[in-house]
Amino acid sequence: MRAIVDQDLCVGCGTCVATAPTVFEMNDDGKAVAVADTTAENREDVQAAIANCPVEAIREE
Ligand code: SF4
Repeated sequence: MRAIVDQDLCVGCGTCVATAPTVFEMNDDGKAVAVADTTAENREDVQAAIANCPVEAIREE
């Protein structure tokens, strides 16, 4: 599984980066991107990031 951030929805609030810093980074456009797969170690943080995104921009595939 890997988190995917909808670049059109993301408002760049940084919550996902703060919640799951090993998975999400901000890109040069000020939007979040997932830079790592979801693993057993980061799964809870990724789920929290998905739940806490204010615009529901994060999904997993
Ligand atoms: S929490 Fe949502 S809106 Fe905020 S930076 Fe992450 S993907 Fe973008």
